[in-house]
Amino acid sequence: MALPSSYPAQHCSVARALDVLGERWTLLIVRDAFYGLRRFKDFVDHLDIPRAVLTARLKTLEDEGVLARVPGPGKRTEYELTEKGLGLWPIVRGLMTWGDEHYAPAGPLRRLRHQADDGQLDADGRCAVCRQIVPVGDTVVERGPGFGHDGERTDAISTSMNRPHRLLDPVRIRWSA
Ligand SMILES: [Zn+2]
Repeated sequence: MALPSSYPAQHCSVARALDVLGERWTLLIVRDAFYGLRRFKDFVDHLDIPRAVLTARLKTLEDEGVLARVPGPGKRTEYELTEKGLGLWPIVRGLMTWGDEHYAPAGPLRRLRHQADDGQLDADGRCAVCRQIVPVGDTVVERGPGFGHDGERTDAISTSMNRPHRLLDPVRIRWSA
């Protein structure tokens, strides 16, 4: 039996949010957008997602104002998180923390730190050095001790994405510019 595609009887904000975010792949696309991916092909390459599914998910995210289409270098279409989309950062960070806690026996796959002072971020996104909640754009993502234990993707965009870099800074590969 097919599951219904929405939760019409659920008058609850969690159900409403899941109508937008709860389909397979959607939060991974959002996560990759925080990591700096912006191009259709780069999402395809990094996620191994069928193109038709990616097209559908991007359309939903665009229709809901989570992602916006913007012209990138060479006027190629790119996708960028809107203000509404940026509001998902605590959710994505929380899922990372929960996944690391329960499904990463070799340790966190990725670590987050504060660009200003190199402090590690805790589960709440608070910097160990300055004790502030670090804004997403001041956060650096880098490999953690558990990175690569289940194999490592070696395609060009994954290699670029896995270098330490600030969240939201565009990650592109040279030959796709
Ligand atoms: Zn700090």
